[in-house]
Amino acid sequence: MFQNLQDKLDRAFKVLKGQGNITEINVAETMKEIRKALLDADVNYKTAKTFTDEVKQKALGQNVLTSISPGQLLTKIMNDELTDLMGGTVNDLDISQNPTVILIAGLNGAGKTTFSGKLANYLRDKKGKKPLLVAGDVYRPAAVDQLQVLGEQVSVPVYVNRESNDPIAIAKEGVAEAKRNGNNIVIIDTAGRLAIDEALMTEITAVKEATQPHEILFVVDAMTGQDAVNTAKTFNDRLDFTGVVLTKLDGDTRGGAALSIKSVVNKPIKFIGTGEKMEALDVFHPDRMASRILG
Ligand code: GDP
Repeated sequence: MFQNLQDKLDRAFKVLKGQGNITEINVAETMKEIRKALLDADVNYKTAKTFTDEVKQKALGQNVLTSISPGQLLTKIMNDELTDLMGGTVNDLDISQNPTVILIAGLNGAGKTTFSGKLANYLRDKKGKKPLLVAGDVYRPAAVDQLQVLGEQVSVPVYVNRESNDPIAIAKEGVAEAKRNGNNIVIIDTAGRLAIDEALMTEITAVKEATQPHEILFVVDAMTGQDAVNTAKTFNDRLDFTGVVLTKLDGDTRGGAALSIKSVVNKPIKFIGTGEKMEALDVFHPDRMASRILG
C-alpha cells in the first residue's frame, strides 16, 4: 500500500536531510518534489498544492527551533498535515438508534456487498449489536446469493425477497423485519451500476427517502484514484452521505483517493477494506495512515 508514494517522499526528504538548517530555497525545492510525488500518487491537484503550501509555511515559520534537524522537523509537520488532510481524528459510526439504519451505496464492483458482510460482522463481534442484512441489489440475483453466503459466514440474518424487484419496497420491508425481530442494526446493500447514471441516483435517493437512514456509507475502490474522488463527489451531491469506505487498500493502490477524498468531498473516511475476507476491515485512523505513508 502506497509503496510508490513512500519511496518518492523519502527521496524528496533526502534533499533536506543533508542540510543544516531550513531555508526558503531548500524548503521550496523539497516541496516541489513532494508535490510531484503526490500528483504521481494521483492526489487531486488542488489538494496537493494547498498541502505543500501549508507545509512550507509551517516549516519556515518554525525555523527558530534548532533542537531538531530540518528533516525531523519536516517529517513532524508533514505527519500533522497529512493527518489533518485525512480528517484529523477517527470518525465513528453513529449506531445509537434502535434500530440504526445504515445504507450502503456505490458503483458495481466497488465492494458494497463484501463491505456489508464485513460491517455486519464488525458490529456483531466488536460492538455487541444484532444486525440484519437486507439484500437490496435486485438487478443481480448473484448479489443476493452472495449476501446470503456472507450472512451465513458471519452468523447474521439476511432479509431477502426474491419475488420483488422493487428496491424501495425491499428496503422498507427490511427495516420492518428488523423491528419485528429485535435487530438493532439494519444494513441495506443496494444495487450499483457500471457508471453513474440518473436511474441509479433517482433510485438510491428514493431508498434514502423511504428508510431515513442514520448513516449512508459510500463505498469506493481505492485503486481507481481520481475517479474514486469524482464519483464520491457526484454521489455526495445527491445523497449527502455520512462517510466513505475505501476498499482494496491491500492492493498496490497509489494512495490518491485516501489523501484527496476528505478535502474534495468534505466527508470523512470511516472504514478501509484490506482484503476479501470478512475480517479484512479496519476503522480508519488518519494518524496511523499518515505515519504509514511517511514510513
Ligand atoms: P459490489 O458490486 O459493490 O457489491 O462489489 P463486491 O462486494 O461484489 O466486490 C467486488 C470484488 O471486490 C469481489 O471480488 C470482492 O471480493 C472484492 N473486494 C471487495 N473488497 C475488497 C478489499 O478490500 N480488498 C480486495 N482485495 N478485494 C475486495
